[in-house]
Amino acid sequence: MATILDGKAHADRMLEAVRQGVEARKAKGLRAPCLAVVLVGEDPASQVYVRNKAAACAKVGITSIEHKLAADTPQAELDALIDQMNADPGVDGILVQLPLPKGLDSKEALHRISPAKDVDGFHPMNQGLLLEGLPGLRPCTPTACMSLLAHHGVELKGLRAVVLGRSEIVGKPMALMLLEKHATVTIAHSRTRDLPAVCREADLLVAAVGRPGLVEGSWIKPGAVVVDVGINRVEDEALAAQIFTGEPKKLVALRTKGAVLCGDVRFGEAMLVASAVTPVPGGVGPLTIAGLLTNTLMAADQNR
Ligand code: NDP
Repeated sequence: MATILDGKAHADRMLEAVRQGVEARKAKGLRAPCLAVVLVGEDPASQVYVRNKAAACAKVGITSIEHKLAADTPQAELDALIDQMNADPGVDGILVQLPLPKGLDSKEALHRISPAKDVDGFHPMNQGLLLEGLPGLRPCTPTACMSLLAHHGVELKGLRAVVLGRSEIVGKPMALMLLEKHATVTIAHSRTRDLPAVCREADLLVAAVGRPGLVEGSWIKPGAVVVDVGINRVEDEALAAQIFTGEPKKLVALRTKGAVLCGDVRFGEAMLVASAVTPVPGGVGPLTIAGLLTNTLMAADQNR
């Protein structure tokens, strides 16, 4: 049986390091770091994420400010708010919660955030620094995944790594970070031919696709480490019966609650083949907020 890589426990370790960093600032007479979050519209999932971020900030002593804008806010108003926060010396980190409602251009908003306050690490300046292997604010999810792998002593040098997914927020930066640590990296995506065979070559398989249970046990090389970034909601019992083999509790939860969360990897199957696997929930999910707060502290320390 594979080891379960406990993301919640590692997130707690990362958050404790942030809390200590905030204390160290205070001991030097500096103010607490401040994260400003912009939520546009009423998307229920985004509201939950923003609430969770504020709660996590409170736990580690980071000040959080929330700007709620109506779904029909014009781009110019959003841009003006970002300009105002860029100019505010009391704000260290700015996060625009995605997705934005229709009619708003998320690239325009993200590119407008000052790179020094870009705690999501999505600004082209920060992405460019990552490409060059230079320090900067880096995307939270892959940064936290790297921290988890380092904590568990996964030796990346010379390893065959496959990153499934090529988004700017997870897949591409994850691949660059693994490359920086001397892994031999393949990026696979929806046009990749014979995906199962590509995945089977991986000593480390990172799945960031958004397709419930896409990765079957037979796609995993025996002894591989599997990091499952996907967060998917499954309501369909027929699909659940296929992907939750060896996970009877998931099927029971689906029947009682009407839906369950799962990753891109069939966890029950992966547990029989891999050497280590992140679960969903409780794997990469909690790490992302820890990565965000780590970035906020870093931005505060660099800004003043
Ligand atoms: P995107 O939708 O931006 O990207 C998905 C990627 O997966 C694309 O590169 C796409 O390929 C590829 N893909 C889609 N379908 C297939 C397929 N059938 N076979 C192979 N490749 C496929 O997603 P994100 O990167 O934003 O997120 C991925 C998952 O991670 C989602 O479930 C999301 O919820 C989750 N997530 C979790 C976070 C966490 O905190 N744990 C944080 C961020 C994301 P192509 O480019 O060819 O279209």
